[in-house]
Amino acid sequence: DENLLKKIVAHAKEYGFVFPSSEIYDGLGAAYDYGQNGVELKNNIKSYWWKAMVQMNENIVGLDASIFMHPTTWKASGHVDAFNDPMIDNKDSKKRYRADVLIEEHIAKIEAKIDKEVTKAAKRFGDDFDKEQFVSTNPRVVKYNEQIDEINAKLKAGMESGELNQLKDLIEELGIADPISGSKNWTDVRQFNLMFATELGSLAEGANKIYLRPETAQGIFVNFLNVQKTGRMKIPFGIAQIGKAFRNEIIARQFIFRMREFEQMEMQFFVKPGEEMGWYENWKEKRIQWHKSLGLGEDYYRFHDHLNLAHYANAACDIEFNFPMGFKELEGIHSRTDFDLKAHEEHSGKKLQFFDPQENKSYVPYVIETSIGLDRMFLALLSAAYTEETLEDGSERVVLKIPAPLAPSKVAVLPLLKKDGLPEKAREIIDELKYDFTCQYDEKDAIGRRYRRQDAVGTPYCITVDHQTLEDNTVTLRDRDTAKQERIAIAELKARVEDLVSL
Ligand code: ATP
Repeated sequence: DENLLKKIVAHAKEYGFVFPSSEIYDGLGAAYDYGQNGVELKNNIKSYWWKAMVQMNENIVGLDASIFMHPTTWKASGHVDAFNDPMIDNKDSKKRYRADVLIEEHIAKIEAKIDKEVTKAAKRFGDDFDKEQFVSTNPRVVKYNEQIDEINAKLKAGMESGELNQLKDLIEELGIADPISGSKNWTDVRQFNLMFATELGSLAEGANKIYLRPETAQGIFVNFLNVQKTGRMKIPFGIAQIGKAFRNEIIARQFIFRMREFEQMEMQFFVKPGEEMGWYENWKEKRIQWHKSLGLGEDYYRFHDHLNLAHYANAACDIEFNFPMGFKELEGIHSRTDFDLKAHEEHSGKKLQFFDPQENKSYVPYVIETSIGLDRMFLALLSAAYTEETLEDGSERVVLKIPAPLAPSKVAVLPLLKKDGLPEKAREIIDELKYDFTCQYDEKDAIGRRYRRQDAVGTPYCITVDHQTLEDNTVTLRDRDTAKQERIAIAELKARVEDLVSL
């Protein structure tokens, strides 16, 4: 539902979760800033992941590698030669497109025509309609399907041959026009490398081109032996890392789903060669459980197994999430073989091997990778949490039902009135809770409006200080999701909130 995405984008901006980058200069394509609530949510997601990976697993340790790496890293990993998309420009509109995506969108249009014929026929034939038979015999539909097969074959040939202008020929043959200007005046197709390059000051001219890392994984591979030796790690073991990655995406849209600067949470798990498939299945299971344990609903997730494998993988799948735009990749799980470590051995001339005392021999381990986009996880949470509802008293509200442990603020403390010593009492409570929980204080406007504001940023509990508080040291505790309130002693607050918001 594209409408839901629009609502989330507007809500995220209005309530300090996500702002367009450098907005006063009209923003920058596919770059976003996280506001006061966004940064809290992001930090909570990171720590939820870090705890599950590093703290809970004796044999997984962390790393924080530098974004800049020696340029040979990216030669070895294959990114210099193969991390490309085919790009084409329209000469009149000056807009840039991915040639393969233009062709795929054309195919989608033909598929839509088929759907239309099928719907029409289904109506005409009623109960007697046999879809399979119709599709295989109706001359128009048969023709459309032949067209699709032919285009797909040419697209595949063009992508694989390396002669990219086959894609341009196909675009012209199909009469594909620029979706914006309608012009059919296309440039040649060029390979477009997704890595951002920049220059390092200290190297001599010609040797100073370096890249912003397009994935965090390589920082882990080049440190494999450093960590293994200093941590006295035994195989199987893992290294986890959270950090920024950069990709010059040709088409970056759909809000924080596809950005040019984003954050990844990756873990590389080193195993004995031959044992990788068992570990691959093991990590698939562990990762889907991690997602489901958040309680957003199991229907939001599905696996998508890859049939076309990347050059480094012998098995791969995505965990897809049902975003407002439909099911899309949230996390990738890959069996990367020994491709990366071997490539770094070759390019660096250094051995990257583990000495196995039981087998009394050294080997290059195989690797299982789990890689999740932090920003995509953020969007997944917002899309599942965003709820418009009518309360029992008939009032309407927008509430973010973010799982309590991840919510930006855990409690809001609200004096019922801005007088009679209630604000002072509220501050006393905050001073007790703020060491353990992120708290908010709000005394402006009627209490109902303040509850609405906390609902809108997903604060799971509101504590209200009223006149009775001054008499018996009790407050009301309001639950975000049910909007129900109960009376509770101040002395019990801390333990109670702890219980409600801990992981
Ligand atoms: P896609 O097919 O959507 O481009 P990918 O297969 O290239 O993604 P990976 O290289 O497997 O992605 O990266 C691992 C994870 O990093 C992805 O599952 C995704 O969550 C995240 N990610 C990748 N590219 C972006 C991006 N441009 N913006 C935000 N997150 C991204």
